[in-house]
Amino acid sequence: MDVFTCAGCGAGLTCPVQRVALPVEIRYRGGHHWMPPLMAPGTYAVDPEPSGLPWRSWEDAGEAGAAAAGVHAPVWTLSLGARNRIVLSPGDTRGTRLLPERSGDSCLGVVGGDAPNLVCAACGLGVGSREDDCGVWNTVRYEPHAVVRRPLGLPAPPPEPVRPTPPLDPDGGWNVRWRAAAGAALAHLLAASGGTALDLPEGPLTTLLGRDLARLLPPGPPALRVALAGPGRPAGDADLVLVPLHPRTGRPWSPPGGVPVGLPADVWAHLALPPETSPMPVSGRPPAGVLRDDYPLPDRPFQRFHPDHGTLRHVLARLPEVREPWLRALYDRL
Ligand SMILES: [Zn+2]
Repeated sequence: MDVFTCAGCGAGLTCPVQRVALPVEIRYRGGHHWMPPLMAPGTYAVDPEPSGLPWRSWEDAGEAGAAAAGVHAPVWTLSLGARNRIVLSPGDTRGTRLLPERSGDSCLGVVGGDAPNLVCAACGLGVGSREDDCGVWNTVRYEPHAVVRRPLGLPAPPPEPVRPTPPLDPDGGWNVRWRAAAGAALAHLLAASGGTALDLPEGPLTTLLGRDLARLLPPGPPALRVALAGPGRPAGDADLVLVPLHPRTGRPWSPPGGVPVGLPADVWAHLALPPETSPMPVSGRPPAGVLRDDYPLPDRPFQRFHPDHGTLRHVLARLPEVREPWLRALYDRL
């Protein structure tokens, strides 16, 4: 557990927080509506990619400049800002003052601008930016040079069991985390495919990725086999294996064979683990001790599943393989 303090005066700027993996859905951009906090309460993540000002066009940055920022294919705008910004839920911050006049161009809320829109309440140092505009995650990002991480020396709480996240939200829409996870996995599978069709196992993996892989890769006999693998689920002889990412470190589970492609552990768990089959205890008419053996009808989506296009493009542009002509042509078509 850590707290972050002001680099200028030492004032506390967070409650105790624990580092977790950067959520895969961080690159998702919503529509004209409010977005919830990205980070769960009591957690923070570090974004290793450059973010925020200054922005450059692809042409101005040049290929070498873009590659130095980790981008290997044209993007609309390229951030040459700081790496390793600390991403938090606004409710976990302490001792800051919001300066709305420092917001950049925004619609319903505030976004980061030319200067930090959050300052330390004690000394006035610009420490980060709050974002809560429509379509962007509700976050605070602290500047890595403006805050100091102070480990509390407390043992980390024991890891919680991974709970599967269902792909459908209660309103019938596809879960954003699933869409972003599929977009990122699709980018990695495309890069690893070598430009040939992939053999997916029947079932949810095909529902998740099959249509887009078939659309983007040339038809023909599959050259590589894809499978789920992870704890208690060996990779077999699959060439590419979809494995869980550690919830805290973000590192992929290491299989004995196959090229790993990571999925958030809660998404992976829904795909890989057997569904819950316990009867639900009820109150009311059934006598005490009698368990129902009927189940709610499964949720029905109101549209087909689509991997998040923004996440797909974002991840693909940052994979060195995108410099290969066939993959660059595919990227350009996206
Ligand atoms: Zn301060």
